[in-house]
Amino acid sequence: MAQVTKSPDDVIHTGTSPKSKYRIEIDRNVCIGAASCVAIGANTFTLDDKNKVLIIEGEWDSDEIVLAAAQSCPVFAIKVFEAETGKQIFPDA
Ligand code: SF4
Repeated sequence: MAQVTKSPDDVIHTGTSPKSKYRIEIDRNVCIGAASCVAIGANTFTLDDKNKVLIIEGEWDSDEIVLAAAQSCPVFAIKVFEAETGKQIFPDA
């Protein structure tokens, strides 16, 4: 199962998944509901009833797909980190 932690104001969510080398962070204030992340990574991202992105609490898509989904976001609402080292992979730090 992916583990998702939400900030108290429900804006920033972070998640990890056992088979993924990545940790994902989403900024729901920045998300405009463009849904390209969902189209690419349907097992990693979904939208809530306000059209704001959520991290799925299950087994994610492959690492390549997770990264491609993050890169597809037009407003950079998704950050990808190496889970083990904490190094930011996308966007370039
Ligand atoms: S691609 Fe970006 S803006 Fe669109 S739903 Fe995903 S996080 Fe939100």
